Amino acid sequence: MAAPFYKRAPHKPGMEGWRQSLQAGRLMHPLKHRAMLAFLFALCVALLPATARAECIRGDFPIAVDIGHTPEDPGAVSARGIPEFAFNIALGRDAAAALGEAGFPAPRILVSGKGKEQLSRRVSAARALSPALVVSIHHDSVQERYLEDWQFAGRGGRYSDRFAGFSIFVSRASPHFQESLAFATALGRSLTSAGLTPSMHHAETIPGENRAILDRRHGVFEFRNLRVLKDAAAPAILLEAGIIVNRQEEIELASPARRKLVAGAIVEAVTAMCAGRGSALVLR
Ligand SMILES: [Zn+2]
Repeated sequence: MAAPFYKRAPHKPGMEGWRQSLQAGRLMHPLKHRAMLAFLFALCVALLPATARAECIRGDFPIAVDIGHTPEDPGAVSARGIPEFAFNIALGRDAAAALGEAGFPAPRILVSGKGKEQLSRRVSAARALSPALVVSIHHDSVQERYLEDWQFAGRGGRYSDRFAGFSIFVSRASPHFQESLAFATALGRSLTSAGLTPSMHHAETIPGENRAILDRRHGVFEFRNLRVLKDAAAPAILLEAGIIVNRQEEIELASPARRKLVAGAIVEAVTAMCAGRGSALVLR
C-alpha cells in the first residue's frame, strides 16, 4: 500500500526524482494533465457571458411554416361553416410575417391535392427548404360524438363547446424528437404565458384520441405517425392553435389579436431555440 502523502519522501531533483515522484503519485501524469487543461478550458467557455459564447444568426435559421390542408381537402369545418384551411392560411401568414420581422426567414409551405399525394408533396417541399425547424399550422375539431346541430345566420352548422384551447404534437419516430419536444415545450410555455390554455381532449381514452401526454402543463402530446413530423429532415411540431367548432373560441381564433398572440409566442420560442443552438465561439 502507498504511504499517505504526508509520509512520502520529498521530491528529489533530476530525472530519477521525477520518475519516483510520478510513481509515488505526487505528480500528475502528462495525459491526466492534458485532460485537466481541457476541463479548465471548457469551464472558462462555460463561464463566458451568453452573448460571447453563443451567436444566434437569425438569417441562417429558417423556419418552414407549413399551412395545414389544401383547397381540395380543407380540413375541419368551424361552428359557423368556415373551413380550417382559411384559419391556417391566416395564422400562417401572420406567423411568417412576425418571424420575418424578427429576422428569421420564414418560407411558407402551401400545397394542393388530397390524401397521401399532398402529404408527400408537403414533406418534399419541407425537405427542399432545409429549414432549422418546421412549424405545421392547424386548427382543431373534436370527435364526431361531441358535435351538435345549431342554426347560425339562417344556416345549419355543427359545434361543440365542450373543449377549448391549443395542442402541440411531436413524433417519437422523428430522428429530431428531443429537439422537437424541447421546442414544443418552449412554445407551450410561451402560449400559456400569453394567457392561453391547452386542451386535454386529445388525451381522452376514446377511439381516435388517447394521445400520450408529454407535457400536460404546456399542452404537448405524442403523435407518432404524422408524416409531416416524422419525415421532416429537421425538428418539427404541429400546432393546433385552437378549436374552431367551439363557438366562442372560433370568434377569438378569427381575430387579428389572437393571431398576433400566437405568432408572438412562436417568435419567442424560435428565438430561444436559435439562442440555444448557437455554437460558434464569437468573442466581442
Ligand atoms: Zn388540421
